[in-house]
Amino acid sequence: MVSKRLQEIPASGTIAISNLVSQMKSEGIDIVSFSMGEPDFTTPANIIESCCDSLNAGFTHYTPSMGIPELRQAVADMEREVDGVPCQASNVLVTPTKQAIFMIALAYIDPGDEVILPDPSWVSYEACIRLAGGVPVYVPTRYEDEFVVDPALVEAAVTPRTRMIILNTPSNPTGTVIPADVLKQIADIAISHDILVLSDEIYESIIYEGRHTSIASLPDMFDRTLLVSGLSKTYAMTGWRLGWAVASEERIKAINKLQSHSISCCVSFVQKAAVEAIRGPQDDKEAMVREFRKRRDLAVDLIADIPGLECNVPKGAFYVFPKYDADMPSAKLAEVLLKEGHVAVTPGTAFGPGGEGFFRVSYATSEDQIREGFDRIRKTLAQL
Ligand code: GLU
Repeated sequence: MVSKRLQEIPASGTIAISNLVSQMKSEGIDIVSFSMGEPDFTTPANIIESCCDSLNAGFTHYTPSMGIPELRQAVADMEREVDGVPCQASNVLVTPTKQAIFMIALAYIDPGDEVILPDPSWVSYEACIRLAGGVPVYVPTRYEDEFVVDPALVEAAVTPRTRMIILNTPSNPTGTVIPADVLKQIADIAISHDILVLSDEIYESIIYEGRHTSIASLPDMFDRTLLVSGLSKTYAMTGWRLGWAVASEERIKAINKLQSHSISCCVSFVQKAAVEAIRGPQDDKEAMVREFRKRRDLAVDLIADIPGLECNVPKGAFYVFPKYDADMPSAKLAEVLLKEGHVAVTPGTAFGPGGEGFFRVSYATSEDQIREGFDRIRKTLAQL
């Protein structure tokens, strides 16, 4: 029997589908996968070279648990110069981004604490909240509002037990970029009710319209914000498992306690490569974003041509979240699309109850695959 803590938690919806897709592919089934949020590009060559160089130089041992000093400095400089976050190297903990979220939940959520998050939101926030004994409090967002969270609803959800608000901009699964004025209103709520903000900015570099604003850069917010981000999406480095948390020194030390008892530190030679990713040439990153934009436009056009589907135009990340009119739950629709249409999508409800009636498409794949995948979706929907 697993712990009571784990009994209530489903496996990650995104990872479950991706595992299923790998299994079907290994059985020789031709699947178009729109499931995993993972760039199909190879990690830029300068980053790979830097990793090989540090391996060859024997940089293969433990590092300080907080991360190597030059990487902490590079992250701090980037967060300060690009996003205006008032941080120094001492405010940075190098850690895989999901690990950061998990540790932050354990460090700052006590049993019974309430955590406000937009619905829909990425799959693992709710699991992390629950594992820490907290209570997720979903604030609905609306398709008609392009899924931008409404500060009035956030305010209305606050109770004396509210400990934290989780934001993710650009958003997985909707591609929504939260405008600066909305972040400002949420910051005011956090300050007036003394609430922490966990700000997941992993897609900060993948923006097509508007600008990324970090809530940690707003006045009086740095000390109450736990910012997480990383390399996976920006530099096509999902397999390298490297990211960071940025917060006050006191909070970073608290989270590092968990790091020291769990992973000890991040992979040494990957940390060296991360310095190259952040400080080295950025041309490949920019080319990837241009490519994602073309794919987004293609996906949106294809959706507009499929009867029974509609979508907002996502402003960032590499997901589109179409609304469908078929009369079946999103989990069932995703199953039908996979088993009959051989196209993998993630059901909207993997991201919270508000995802019912939607599914998520990750368009971080080739234009040919995008065309083929939507063709399969069109044909499968027509048969329902
Ligand atoms: N974040 C990506 C996704 O949503 C990768 C899988 C995961 O971490 O959930 O597909």
